[in-house]
Amino acid sequence: MLEHTRVLIIGSGPAGLTAAIYSARAQLSPIVIEGEPSSTTDQPGGQLMVTTDVENFPGFPDGVMGPDLMANMRTQALRFGADLRTSKVQRLDLSERPFRAWLSEDTEASIRAETVILTTGARSLMLGVAGEERLLSHGLSTCATCDGFFFRGHDIAVVGGGDSALEEALFLTRFASSVTLIHRRDSLRASKIMQDRAIAHEKIRFAWNTQVTEVLGENKVSGLAVRNTVSGEESVLDVTGVFVAIGHVPNTTLVAGQLHLDENGYVLTGPGSATNIEGVFAAGDVQDHEYRQAITSAGSGCMAAIDAERWLESQGQ
Ligand code: NDP
Repeated sequence: MLEHTRVLIIGSGPAGLTAAIYSARAQLSPIVIEGEPSSTTDQPGGQLMVTTDVENFPGFPDGVMGPDLMANMRTQALRFGADLRTSKVQRLDLSERPFRAWLSEDTEASIRAETVILTTGARSLMLGVAGEERLLSHGLSTCATCDGFFFRGHDIAVVGGGDSALEEALFLTRFASSVTLIHRRDSLRASKIMQDRAIAHEKIRFAWNTQVTEVLGENKVSGLAVRNTVSGEESVLDVTGVFVAIGHVPNTTLVAGQLHLDENGYVLTGPGSATNIEGVFAAGDVQDHEYRQAITSAGSGCMAAIDAERWLESQGQ
């Protein structure tokens, strides 16, 4: 079966669904490939699906649960006629217009699209230790800006030795009583200036050569089991919060070799949401390693929908 659409949106986080709302209201009948659940941390709706309280999304003075926010965005997109499909794009060909996307191995069944809005997001690297998945959003977080506020007066840990980890640790000192930075080696990867700031900070202490072996706690984090990589000594770190900051990977497999990426693998955009291929736009975390917020992601999804609409108009469509 061969289908045709003016706007194909790949991804269903805040960027994808905002792009869907805007392009559906502009009568462009977008098709949204929203993904399929494959693990707790990879499912339609993106990272907000594994978040509990969201207190900084404007318009919700009492906060909103991440999954509820995404369900609302989805309902809003459906209301204006967006065609949402719970499926994954297996292959994307951006070499000629209309672009083509395959949802299955069947080479005959594809969607032809005049424009593509890529909103596949980024995923946080995780430690892969026991307790981590269960306690995600129950004391374990991957975003200090999002969740730091919930840890006022807590003793917490940040895992990682790069700029992200130090930035998160420094930010978290505003709320936490103490921040222990857990790093698997004895020297940091982070830039010198960040190292100096963190080392000088009275609330930050360092657990060098230390690996997390388990996140402890039944319904919320109650400690971290750690092992010293040099002595082999095992111990429990008494913390009630942990931030995993060991890096992010943008989800760009589909566009590798087609779209220009920056040195960290994020899609290069600009002006606006334009990529290096005319008619292909990118929004949200797949092109943003700076802000990574639901609201900035939604904002860039809106930009992409407007950019796609104007581009179609410029093509006489
Ligand atoms: P990085 O890849 O730079 O650092 C990841 C850190 O996590 C490393 O210290 C690494 O250890 C550690 N790590 C990786 N996997 C594991 C694991 N399984 N268990 C324990 N530790 C692990 O990622 P960042 O997100 O920190 O930074 C990405 C890029 O963004 C960098 O270029 C950085 O400079 C930039 N950035 C800049 C900022 C700024 O300028 N303000 C802020 C944030 C990021 P090891 O060192 O042993 O490999």
